[in-house]
Amino acid sequence: MLDIPGKACGPCAFCCKVLEIEEFDKKAGVWCGHCTQTSGCAVYATRPQVCRDYHCRWKEERTLGAQLRPDKVGTLLMDDPDSDEYHAVCDPEKPFSWRNSLVFKHLVSEAKAGRIVVAKAGLRAWRIFADGSWQEWA
Ligand code: SF4
Ligand code: SF4
Repeated sequence: MLDIPGKACGPCAFCCKVLEIEEFDKKAGVWCGHCTQTSGCAVYATRPQVCRDYHCRWKEERTLGAQLRPDKVGTLLMDDPDSDEYHAVCDPEKPFSWRNSLVFKHLVSEAKAGRIVVAKAGLRAWRIFADGSWQEWA
């Protein structure tokens, strides 16, 4: 992927906490054992290929502004690799981060564009609709 100006991960390591990484049995919502709070990935030079290849939607999408970097809003935006859904993945410790006004506005716009939009935090999930309403999914 070509680097997009202004879209470096920088101090963000949000994906290293919220995502499940099957390749090395990392559960969703817990910090990867290699992630240091002060200087990021301790094995950066030799990090697994799955980590090298991963880019959240914020990194890939020019129209998503700097304020939406995942660590700033507590929400990682991504296309679900297993479905057509568009996901807003939050830290289980702050499960309603997707209600941040900037994030929510973006999610509603994706729903208006026809996407199935789902916010997730641990085992909880909410569907967000084009009219701005939302409901928890069982
Ligand atoms: S969540 Fe996105 S911006 Fe943050 S570290 Fe992961 S890929 Fe980079
Ligand atoms: S190995 Fe490094 S880049 Fe990969 S999840 Fe762990 S801390 Fe993040």
